Amino acid sequence: MKFKVLADHFRLIESTSSRNDMTELLSKLFAETSADEIGAVMYMLQGKVTPPYEKADFGLGEKMIIRAVVRALQIDEETFQESLKKTGDIGSSAEMFMEKKGMKGTQDMSVMDVFEKLVSITKMSGDGSQDRKLEILSELVKALDPLSCRYLVRIPAQTLRLGFSDMTILDAMSWLLAGNKSLRKDIEKAYHVRPDLGYIAEMLKKHGISKMASIVPHIGTPILMMKAQRLPTPEDIFNKLQTGRIEPKYDGLRLQIHYEKKGKEAVVKLFSRGLDDVTYMYPDIVEGVIKECHADSAILEGEALGFDSYSRTFLPFQETVQRKRKHDIAEKAQEIPLKMFIFELLYVNGESLLKTPLTDRSKKMLKVIKPSGDIFNDTLLLSPQVEMITADDVNRVFEDSISKGLEGIMVKKLDGTYEPGARGWNWIKFKRSYSAKIDDTLDCVVMGYDRGKGKRSDFGIGAFLVGVYDAQEDSYKTVAKIGTGLSDEDWRMLHTLCTHIATDHKPALYDVDKLMSVDVWVKPAIVVEIKADEITRSTMHTAGRSMKASVSGKASVVDIQGYALRFPRLKRFVDDKKPEDATTVEEVAEMSSIQLKSV
Ligand code: AMP
Repeated sequence: MKFKVLADHFRLIESTSSRNDMTELLSKLFAETSADEIGAVMYMLQGKVTPPYEKADFGLGEKMIIRAVVRALQIDEETFQESLKKTGDIGSSAEMFMEKKGMKGTQDMSVMDVFEKLVSITKMSGDGSQDRKLEILSELVKALDPLSCRYLVRIPAQTLRLGFSDMTILDAMSWLLAGNKSLRKDIEKAYHVRPDLGYIAEMLKKHGISKMASIVPHIGTPILMMKAQRLPTPEDIFNKLQTGRIEPKYDGLRLQIHYEKKGKEAVVKLFSRGLDDVTYMYPDIVEGVIKECHADSAILEGEALGFDSYSRTFLPFQETVQRKRKHDIAEKAQEIPLKMFIFELLYVNGESLLKTPLTDRSKKMLKVIKPSGDIFNDTLLLSPQVEMITADDVNRVFEDSISKGLEGIMVKKLDGTYEPGARGWNWIKFKRSYSAKIDDTLDCVVMGYDRGKGKRSDFGIGAFLVGVYDAQEDSYKTVAKIGTGLSDEDWRMLHTLCTHIATDHKPALYDVDKLMSVDVWVKPAIVVEIKADEITRSTMHTAGRSMKASVSGKASVVDIQGYALRFPRLKRFVDDKKPEDATTVEEVAEMSSIQLKSV
């Protein structure tokens, strides 16, 4: 496929605001793409040259990209900057100048030609690499037509966002194979095991849907992490599971470890819940894994906690989270060393354990992680486990955990499998807060903001609209507009984050009532943790609006009232979750019903 043709698909996709049209356009594009090219196309559609969890840095700042463009266009930088001030987009400005100058490109470059050149830029380092990168980009600009350039330069500038989610892509793949959405669930399951759209698409093109069920974890590709359900009382948990295992619920950083021996070396990668590669942040965990993981290859999961060696206690989240940083990593590691409670083994020595029941996974885990018992030497620890025989056990372990300053407990189904990305009943969490009003927080997506009046307008933002994810419909639905409770620094930060992802139309995935419209829409990217006093019902918000009124499943009345948050306030910015990992409408419904029960 010629890059020109791909650019034309990009243009059509970018200009639609209907999710259905977008799905159709994407599936048309996939139909025209060969199996050998589809991987590259998938990554470029996401503005990348690798899957998102792989770090492939172009290492070209905005200035360098502009320099490459003006060199190719043979115009002066000032003129370009002036246009940039108006368009706010290097791609559109480059396109405009090329059109003005009648530049049509010299070659008819293929998608793979352009892709390989972009990949080569990400691989360059060392002396003179900036100049070589600049040269390659500049040559690419010269070789392409104006529309192609619009999209090309947005890739290293990291501003190519065409406004669809991974789920839209999965739907489009289903459309390609079946002419409808019926295969999406099967494709999604495979994607949760191996969230590499390039790989999944290539497999689908080459082997069809039958291959999806046999996709297994791959060392180096994070598996979507399993999530826990919640129930309001120990009795509910006991009745639901009957048998189970109770573990303390630690409030730290969830990490997935990928370990592989390669000759005498061992390679370790650490991934966050949001599937980011965070290996560089935790050198002490990496070192611990190399010493303490007894396998040729393994994928493990657990919760990392700061440890205070003087008091021999684990630190609260607020302290542990200080380890999540990009700078001064070694110093902070000295100050707040981490220990990691391992609770899952998902893959060992080439064998996937995803379908193995919990008890058998745990038996194998004990052969891979064997703590010496000396907390000062061990980095990897195993959490205590208590078998649940009666509902009382749940209560007892819960009280014990709380008295030790922990968040609560996790009860896990003994024969439960590991379901990547799912929030199923194999894990149930129980926190103190459920017995009161909603004290649990919601992870919401920032959807847009109002500029604000008076003093508030100083920050350029006076209130912001947040929503939750509707997993059934792959859309975002509102629950609150927040205008108070932020520090000056929070407002500034939010405004800066929003500026980069502002868009001139309401994104296709947003479902918003007219009354909740905002001055500026932003693409789904920022996740914030929101605390509220209560979940109420409101006609102004769309979350849960057309859902069945009762989550217990009896009533099936279509409700025009959505869920809304009372006294919502920002707790923190969540940078390890993707928008699709935000709290879902279903969860809000559950939280609301738990809240009603406990009143
Ligand atoms: P929440 O973030 O409240 O939905 O709770 C789920 C989180 O609890 C998981 O993502 C883990 O990070 C954390 N967690 C703490 N202890 C455990 C445990 N023993 N088993 C599973 N998850 C745990």
